[in-house]
Amino acid sequence: MRSTQIRSTFLDFFTSRGHRQVPSSPLIPSDPTLLLANAGMNQFKPYFLGEVTPDFPRATTIQKCARTSDIDNVGRTNRHATFFEMMGNFSFGDYFKADAIAFAWELLTQGYNLEKDRLWITVYQDDDEAEQLWRKVGVPAERIQRLGMEDNFWSMGVPGPCGPCSEVNYDRGPAFGREGGPAVDGERYVEIWNLVFMQYQRGEGDGKGDFPILGDLAQQSIDTGLGLDRLAAILQDVENVCGTDLLHPTLTTVQELAGRDYPGSGEEKVSFQVVAEHARSIAYLIADGVLPAKDGRGYVLRRLMRRAIRHARLLGIDQPVLAPATASVIGNLGDVWPELTAQAALIEQVVTAEEESFTRTLAQGTRLLNAAITRSRDNRSTTLTGDTAFELHDTFGFPVELTIEAARDAGLTVDENRFTDLLTEQQRRAKAGGKAKTAEALRRQDAYRELSARHGRTDFVGYDRLDAEATVL
Ligand code: ATP
Ligand code: MG
Ligand code: MG
Ligand code: MG
Repeated sequence: MRSTQIRSTFLDFFTSRGHRQVPSSPLIPSDPTLLLANAGMNQFKPYFLGEVTPDFPRATTIQKCARTSDIDNVGRTNRHATFFEMMGNFSFGDYFKADAIAFAWELLTQGYNLEKDRLWITVYQDDDEAEQLWRKVGVPAERIQRLGMEDNFWSMGVPGPCGPCSEVNYDRGPAFGREGGPAVDGERYVEIWNLVFMQYQRGEGDGKGDFPILGDLAQQSIDTGLGLDRLAAILQDVENVCGTDLLHPTLTTVQELAGRDYPGSGEEKVSFQVVAEHARSIAYLIADGVLPAKDGRGYVLRRLMRRAIRHARLLGIDQPVLAPATASVIGNLGDVWPELTAQAALIEQVVTAEEESFTRTLAQGTRLLNAAITRSRDNRSTTLTGDTAFELHDTFGFPVELTIEAARDAGLTVDENRFTDLLTEQQRRAKAGGKAKTAEALRRQDAYRELSARHGRTDFVGYDRLDAEATVL
């Protein structure tokens, strides 16, 4: 089943069951505590909190999500991307557990025709009701597992709604890993759908993750998320999310640029996937108004671009990679997501400018990095100095995460404390001098502003500093 049909099957199923189809919110959320949209429920938070009453009690969406926290998993697990589409159904004080579970089961087994025997369910350890409801739709007890707070309990992290989750997982078979259910192996038993039951009111936490449950919510709600990319990998019978029709054309473009075939060696396979997957995130972020910057969302974008460029060079691609790779994303997905097509020229200009500027220093920085790695090895040290990481950051524009990744690939860890001290010291000096930004950064910022203005966007957001940043980066 093609991704277009997966989307329409989902939306048709829920609209025909009384759900209002609501468009995805942009990746830049209106919620000031959130760096980037990362779940379908983000845009409905005021409804769940009871701050606003929607004029529809049920909704369905396909939400654009970005999760930088999954960046290191790209190419290393089959199921993680930094950008993905989350399909969801929501009830605002309308239906609850029984219907949410019945809907999910019917859609998966009849709408998508997934084999019942391959579906494994997890429920929260104390949620007997959820287990009973799954039994009722026909899931045998041996394919229902109980998990604890960490995996199967949801809370916004503040006083307000909270409750147990229940997840549907698909068994990809012995070729993918160990037997034993989702509690044992997340690669073989891929989590596809999370059902969140907003059931209780939670109180103020103790700061260590523990909080009291004050009682049942007056309005019990449902929030679910079914990952399109993961479902597509299953329905299209491909190993990982990069093999689906969402990303495969871009992977092909990367192969053409590299002049060799995917997957290649283990590390090449990772690089192929990183370039293709990041190209998609980059295109969507710029289309939604994110521009490269030193911090905030703009830093997320810059980090993705620089990481993709580095991995392209590792594949031997010495010509520009981001422009053709993002063009292929736009060509493939622009019909479904018209903002990509509308912002195609801006995307091309931003990625080209970034690649030109990073390419100027990448080769020199890589030489410095490799020399430092060799030095560490010669000294039988397992650390790369914070001074090296800082020089790479400061002089060569290497996001420190990139240095950490390269060091890790060589079996080394970076002295991050020393790096942070040097960075803090530099920022202190810059502040004291009243020149927080170098002339180069300012010039670049102006250039991006100009580009953005030319393309009709005035919402320059790259320099925002947000509460959630520390947790997301
Ligand atoms: P995992 O445990 O595999 O990291 P998760 O528990 O973090 O997933 P949820 O927050 O429950 O994921 O999100 C709901 C659904 O969104 C998941 O069940 C999955 O289908 C999809 N999803 C989550 N993270 C990603 C990702 N990085 N790439 C692709 N799909 C994802
Ligand atoms: Mg996760
Ligand atoms: Mg999970
Ligand atoms: Mg989950």
